[in-house]
Amino acid sequence: MGKVVIIGCGNVGMSYAYALLNQKSKVSELVLIDLDKKKIEGEVMDLSHCLAFLPSKIKVKVGDYEDCRDADIVMIAAGAKQEDNETRMDLISKNCVILKGIVGEVVKSGFKGIFVVATNPVDIMTYVTWKISGFDYKRVIGTGTSLDTARLRYLIGQRINIDTKNIHAYVIGEHGDSEFVPWSGANVGLQNIDNFLNKDELEEVCREVREAAYEIIKRKGNTSYGIGVCLVRITNAILNDENSIITVSSYDEENDIFMGLPSVLNRNGAERRIYVELSEEETEKLQNSVDILKEAKAKINL
Ligand code: NAD
Repeated sequence: MGKVVIIGCGNVGMSYAYALLNQKSKVSELVLIDLDKKKIEGEVMDLSHCLAFLPSKIKVKVGDYEDCRDADIVMIAAGAKQEDNETRMDLISKNCVILKGIVGEVVKSGFKGIFVVATNPVDIMTYVTWKISGFDYKRVIGTGTSLDTARLRYLIGQRINIDTKNIHAYVIGEHGDSEFVPWSGANVGLQNIDNFLNKDELEEVCREVREAAYEIIKRKGNTSYGIGVCLVRITNAILNDENSIITVSSYDEENDIFMGLPSVLNRNGAERRIYVELSEEETEKLQNSVDILKEAKAKINL
């Protein structure tokens, strides 16, 4: 049995809540916290009313920070929205203030579980959460490039007409414009991806992934379902003690940043990272992400 608290119940928070209700999971209690109390009262009513027809028996309620005390996971999706033409980095200062306040309150409650952060720019906000909480870094996870990886696998699968589940490729680095795919380790079944797509096609897929959020926001104003399902995937990997590899934003001791790299998720959080063998060009790309994140981190006063 597990208790999850969602802080920030806008598009992302509620897509996560809805996806969680629609899947079998260990979550038995779901608590919603948001500045807009009236809205989440409505959300709780709406979600609870469909429980009769769902596989889960989750108790959903409006809560406050006291509820974090015995929670297993606190998921943070509070923040300012990413506007059209606004990069994730533009959101830093706005969301930094919001996150500092929230994390302080969660820690005050006596919370002993795992933080999962979705607020953008997610690698920086995960760092803020870690710093303010004083938690062991394993217990602080950002969604990182998990959504980008899901998008990548879908787009490749579509192009070559192979089930997404058989596409073994990952997006790593900053969840943002410097993210990239280390194609040298990407394969379909046991074949290297080069046997299916040429260099130009691979580059095009990579660009589509990088621009996916902008394209969706341009059309519907926000992105929500994809990230909602990624958050459920991360939740299940933690609560089921799966030792699953997901490209979450986890701590990089050497550079003192959080960044998306394949990490083993279990009941302890992001237990460890998987070493990724990179070509010279890929190493440079990763270093570029590291530099961008270090520069962004330097702008916040922690
Ligand atoms: P939204 O505006 O719909 O929701 C944000 C919610 O946060 C609102 O309901 C607001 O009332 C609440 N909020 C703000 N300050 C708060 C506070 N101090 N305490 C409690 N609640 C507070 O935005 P959204 O579309 O749900 O996006 C949320 C965040 O998730 C953004 O930062 C967005 O960029 C990010 N996001 C991340 C990913 C990813 O891959 N990590 C994907 C999509 C969106």
